Formats: sequence, structure tokens, C-alpha cells
Amino acid sequence: MTCDFFKLATKGAQALQPYQPGKPIEELEREYGIKNAIKLASNENPTGISPLVVTAIQAHLQELPRYPDGNGFRLKQALAAYHSRTINNVVLGNGSNDILDLVARAFVTAQDSVLFSAHAFAVYPIVTQAIGAKMIITPAKNWGHDLIAMRQAIEPNTKLIFIANPNNPTGTWVSKTELQAFLDSVPETIIIVLDEAYFDYMDAPDYPDSSLWLDRYPNLVVARTFSKAYGLAALRIGYALAHPDIINLLNRVRQPFNVNSLALIAAEVALQDRAYVMNAIALNKVGLAKLTQGFEKMGINYIPSRANFITFDLGKPALPVYEALLREGVIVRPIGSYGMPNHLRVTVGLPEENERFLQSLKKVLTKP
Ligand SMILES: *Cc1c(COP(=O)(O)O)cnc(C)c1O
Repeated sequence: MTCDFFKLATKGAQALQPYQPGKPIEELEREYGIKNAIKLASNENPTGISPLVVTAIQAHLQELPRYPDGNGFRLKQALAAYHSRTINNVVLGNGSNDILDLVARAFVTAQDSVLFSAHAFAVYPIVTQAIGAKMIITPAKNWGHDLIAMRQAIEPNTKLIFIANPNNPTGTWVSKTELQAFLDSVPETIIIVLDEAYFDYMDAPDYPDSSLWLDRYPNLVVARTFSKAYGLAALRIGYALAHPDIINLLNRVRQPFNVNSLALIAAEVALQDRAYVMNAIALNKVGLAKLTQGFEKMGINYIPSRANFITFDLGKPALPVYEALLREGVIVRPIGSYGMPNHLRVTVGLPEENERFLQSLKKVLTKP
């Protein structure tokens, strides 16, 4: 081969660091020759699949030869009803990551800039660099988004701002008051994406429901997902709520069949199964408290979280601890690529998984 394809690629693609997913259980067991590994690395719902979803998927399997409904009419209708909006306020994505990409592609060119915080979700740099746009990354405050700094960092060519609330991997969130002040101060010509993947878990009294603000801030895009509390990560289904004009533009850049038919039906049914979501939330709350207590007992600093994961500080390079945990069959997430080499992120699992993680952590930290 004589052609250097790397040279042919866009500057953006050349600069990209591919997203590093959590290690799959199968891969760990194969590589380390162990069994019964547990994965607390990708903020997945540990409670299994909703039985209503299983039945719905089975009933719709025969539709696989046909293209899905490219409009996702039924699911959009259900979501519109759920949020007391119209279907013109809803766009569906192949996971909410797809939504983040759609917004960037609909509004940002290589001549523009996109603003987000340090330690923010890894998909923001990916979708920005894929376009070749400039990234403006503001320093964090106590690991969280510093909205004052973000407001000041806006440049004349800034087209888009990403805010993860709460943020992954830090778990930090911005309060209703802070966020409203920020939204009030940003010109309407800049699109603001509020990425709320963990919305359902958030029980902090100061945590806002920004889906109620669409009329007040027409430049707002609220992204939600079925991957976390609804337990449908593998099906890839998320959505955004926004002004109909924004939704219309996102639909123009969207691939015609970006959401598959099993995801459409599963999400529609999952939305009705409140018992599943409530159980997942309740279990998460107990698990998070357990992990927090465990860290406190071991004298380990952590970043307070209300989501389904928590990030802790080892005060030294975390990779050796990550690897020692792998040997114990416990997969957590190193976050050095987020500029946090001393931290690890752990997803809240089932009670026995949380227990095993804490025991394993204690063991690997006290080993001579
Ligand atoms: C998990 C997560 C998502 C959801 O991604 P999907 O594509 O919907 O699976 C979005 N944003 C953040 C910050 C996340 O952590």
C-alpha cells in the first residue's frame, strides 16, 4: 500500500482520540483467565431488563426484515405526552450520543468554536473535532463546571455549548440558580445542550428539571437517554427536547433510520414501566450510600455524586489500582483520559457487587 490514508483524512479526524469504553467482562475473563468478573465501569443499570420490555421485543421480532419507522412516531408521541410537549419538540437519537453529534453537525462548522468544561463527557471533544471546529475548554471548579468561567470564555464564533448535568465522570452538577443565571446571560444565537443522561437518579433539591424551560430559552436542547435508569444501553436510544425549529434542523442532518425498531418499541414500553425505573433508582440510592460509607471508612476521598456512579481519588496514579482490581475480577473505569489520572470511577452495582468492589479495593490497597 502506498497511500497514506492518515494524511488524506481531515485535520479533525487526525487529531481525534477514539472513545475508550469500559472493559467488557468477556475480554477480562479471556485475558486474565478468571471467572465471575463483575463490571462496574460503564454506568449501566445493574437490575436486569424490564419484563414488559422483554415481552414487547419478542412480540416485535418479526418486524426485523422491515425498516423501522423513520419518524419514530409512536415513541415521539409517548415522549411528548410524558413531557407535556408536542412531537415537534422531540427528536430521537441512536443513543443520546447521536443527539450530541446531530447538534454539532447541524450548527457548527470548522470556522466555529464549541465550549465545554474540563473533565466533561468524552463525546463533546469527539463530535467537535470530527467537524474540525475549535474546542474551548474551561478549567473546572471543584471538578465541576464553572459556569462563570464558561460565560467569560464565549468567543464571537462560539456556536454551541455542552453542559453535562450531572457530569460524567465527575458526578458534579450545577444548581438550578446557577444554570438559570448562565442561560439568562448567554446570547440566544448560541445553542446550549444540557446533557442529562442521569436525570432520573438526581434527587438533589437544587437539581433542575431543564425540560420545563424550553419556552423560556429557545436555544436550549435537553438531551436524555434510555441507556441508564431505563436499562436499554445496548439498544441505543436517546432523545432531545427543543424548540421545533431546532428539532426540524436536527431531523435534516439525522440519518433516515437512525433508531431501530426494537429500540423504538422497547423505549415506548420502558417509559410506561415506572416500577422498573423506581426500583433502579431506589437500589442505586442505597448502593451509592454503601460505596460512600466504604470510601469514608477507608479514608478515600471521593467526589459527591447523586448519579449511578461515583469517582474517587487515590492520591496517586490510579492505573496500578485499576489493574489490581482487574486481577480481582472487578472492572472499574480509569479516567486518565479525562485529565484525572489519580481517580477511578465506579458504577453503583447490585448490593453484592458493591460489597465485592469495596472488599477488593480494601485488599488491593492494603497489599504490601
Ligand atoms: C451515558 C451518558 C450518555 C448516554 O449515552 P447514550 O448514547 O444515550 O448511551 C450521555 N451523556 C453522558 C454524560 C453520559 O454519561
